[in-house]
Amino acid sequence: MEATTGFSRFLPETPSLQLDSWSLDDAATLMTLDVTSTQKGVACPGCAVFTNRVHSRYTRTLADLPWGAARGRWQLRVRTCVCANPQCPRRICTERLPDVVAPWARRTPRLAAWLLAIGLALGGAAGARLSRRFGLTVSRQTLLRVIRRLPHLGDRTPQVLGVDDVAFHKGQTDGTVLIDLERRQPVALWPDREAETWAQWLRIHPGVAVITRDRARAYADGACQGAPEAIQVANRFHLLQNLVDALEPVFHTHRPALEAVNDMLRRQGVPLPDGTVAVAVPPPRTPTTTPQQVAQRRAQGVALHQQVWALRDQGWPGHAIATHLGIGKSTVFRSLRTTTLPERTRRRDGGRSVLNPSKSSLLERWNAGCRDALRLYGEFQRRGYRGSDATVARYAQRVRQAQGQTPRHRPRQARPVVAMPHHQLLTARRAAWLVLRRTDKRHADEPWQLTQWQAQHAELAEAIELTQDFAHLVRQRQGESLDAWLARVAQSPIGALQRLAKGLSDDDDAVKTGLTWPWSNGPVEEQITRLKRLKRQMFGRASLDLLQRRFLQVPRPVQGALPKKDVLPKKATTCPKSQG
Ligand SMILES: [Zn+2]
Repeated sequence: MEATTGFSRFLPETPSLQLDSWSLDDAATLMTLDVTSTQKGVACPGCAVFTNRVHSRYTRTLADLPWGAARGRWQLRVRTCVCANPQCPRRICTERLPDVVAPWARRTPRLAAWLLAIGLALGGAAGARLSRRFGLTVSRQTLLRVIRRLPHLGDRTPQVLGVDDVAFHKGQTDGTVLIDLERRQPVALWPDREAETWAQWLRIHPGVAVITRDRARAYADGACQGAPEAIQVANRFHLLQNLVDALEPVFHTHRPALEAVNDMLRRQGVPLPDGTVAVAVPPPRTPTTTPQQVAQRRAQGVALHQQVWALRDQGWPGHAIATHLGIGKSTVFRSLRTTTLPERTRRRDGGRSVLNPSKSSLLERWNAGCRDALRLYGEFQRRGYRGSDATVARYAQRVRQAQGQTPRHRPRQARPVVAMPHHQLLTARRAAWLVLRRTDKRHADEPWQLTQWQAQHAELAEAIELTQDFAHLVRQRQGESLDAWLARVAQSPIGALQRLAKGLSDDDDAVKTGLTWPWSNGPVEEQITRLKRLKRQMFGRASLDLLQRRFLQVPRPVQGALPKKDVLPKKATTCPKSQG
């Protein structure tokens, strides 16, 4: 035991505690503070009558913050008192220290605050690992319990609310997030995107004045049912996305024109620093399927999957199912591994090749005369290439193709220098985004690509002009020009844009407000990014309720993005016509 001079300031600032002594156990690396309550008496928890008749004393042990390398703990001396009220059924009451520690807590509030901060930032497993580094022995489950004990936020009703959907698992469970657009803070998160759930939330949180949303029916319907007086705003980014979705099939029908532009790009070659021009390595063959074909194949796949399961449910063995349906046994067993057909996901490498880092040195060797794919594979393997020889061979074939050679036929003549192309070739989707890209954000040769693309066909030129004019309305917020644009689309022969225009007129009020009012779902995108990060940290093990709590706890509030007077337009608008 040591003297406590000056030590009291290491206790929380409260008049009801006094530090009696401290001791450091070197063997156990444990720092103990002996602390006594200095309250004059106790209010009985049963009858609230004040008493100072001490019955007995006892010691509570509380874990505290570490002191250097030593764990910290308090030995807190508290009293039990005899209730002064003769009518009270509770004869003895224990002393409570409401501003110091909760009745049954085993940690000091300052330690609990640390653990909560660590848990919210990192989640259970990573939080526990970091805590151990700091000398705090705490389990993953304890951190999760601390987070779960937090009260639910989300009871305050924002005036301006952004709603959007979020995927919890790739292509599977959908959820909904609500964001306070003035404070840029999350408000709620739930695991469906039904109109009814959303409407119900709005009914128990009256007072929302403005709702920004995408143009999905569920959010429009829910907003009308739950908050008919709120003004709905179509989110501008989603409007641009709708535009790209409409444009892509138009461009798909003009595939030969797309190929013509790509051919021109390829023939241009790659300018080299020495002023000469090299031939570009052609891209790998791209699949020629349209989105409609993909959807059709998916539907066929789902139907087959259901047939397999229907037969399995009737007790059919796998090989009999295969014979009956005329498909391979491996297809049957693959289907039986999952009850629903999993969504085909994109390539996990996003099209990036394992060969990419080696490509420029490979071309250097190639141009220097080494054209043996197997030998190149051996060289690059020694330099750290981890891919297969087939990948190198396929790339070598594309290089030969650029030089106008076939693998078998190798005349001994000078070959053109090959280089990697500087630009990406156009696909229907890339072309659609290129059309929408702001002029100042386009890459060097994109204006040229766009001009060539426009020159291919009158219909393309018209689609591009209409699209760019709409993008201009969106970006300059010219809601008053929407009707004129819709009228022009009605006169045009482009079916996909006409369908888009029909959808926009059905949702007329929200679209016009979106093209006029400053609110947009930017803060929603920020929060969805944050949510995805939290989800990744938790490795998909976390239950939704834990994810909700971490998501809804925001470290510090951000002030409103716009002054209050901008929240409401002058005149009230009604619900979109699509609701009928
Ligand atoms: Zn009492």
